[in-house]
Amino acid sequence: KTWNQTGLTNKILEMIKKLDYEKPMPIQAQAVPIIMSGRDCIGIAKTGSGKTLAYVLPMLRHIKDQPLVVAGDGPIGLIMAPTRELVQQIHSVINKFAKTLGLRCVPVYGGSGIAQQIGELKRGAAIVVCTPGRMIDILCTNGGRITNLQRVTYLVVDEADRMFDLGFEPQINRIVQNIRPDHQTLLFSATFPHQVEVLARKVLNKPVHIQV
Ligand code: AMP
Repeated sequence: KTWNQTGLTNKILEMIKKLDYEKPMPIQAQAVPIIMSGRDCIGIAKTGSGKTLAYVLPMLRHIKDQPLVVAGDGPIGLIMAPTRELVQQIHSVINKFAKTLGLRCVPVYGGSGIAQQIGELKRGAAIVVCTPGRMIDILCTNGGRITNLQRVTYLVVDEADRMFDLGFEPQINRIVQNIRPDHQTLLFSATFPHQVEVLARKVLNKPVHIQV
């Protein structure tokens, strides 16, 4: 498979070429067309498989398809990940594309000053990458006026199995409950234990399963 067969826009394809990602990795070749069709998706894939771009590239198109992205509003794309390191890593992947596309991506994670993150969010962000605990802290700050999840139509739960290992299930549920019902959801996990299956059944709508 080639990138041209994935259905991504020319602008995104050009950027992929400049970054020397010659051809899509298997998870990308499988997941990108399915996600772009609007379906929910469960990807069983490990770190190193290329899973990040598999959900980031369709997200960029999803957001650029919106008629109007107004600075100062809450995010359209929300990505949850278990650790600060992973949030930073995902943020840097997104930023290879987001800046050129004129989209702001803000990372939000615990163990670091909340004030700066609040400042960044107040400036508006089309995309937020977060650890769930810190995100809830911020949503509860200042009567919910920092940011909100009312525009989120693209939700990613990355490394779902590790989220459960770290006890984030209540926080994930709480965030999901605050998102409008008409959102697309993508769940990625290295393994597919019972807990993750239960979450998937609750949160995803007729998902397509992909395993690499
Ligand atoms: P991930 O599993 O998303 O953490 O990605 C693992 C590594 O693969 C990262 O260093 C990416 O930069 C790299 N990568 C992702 N997609 C491609 C691709 N299509 N071609 C070459 N390298 C890639």
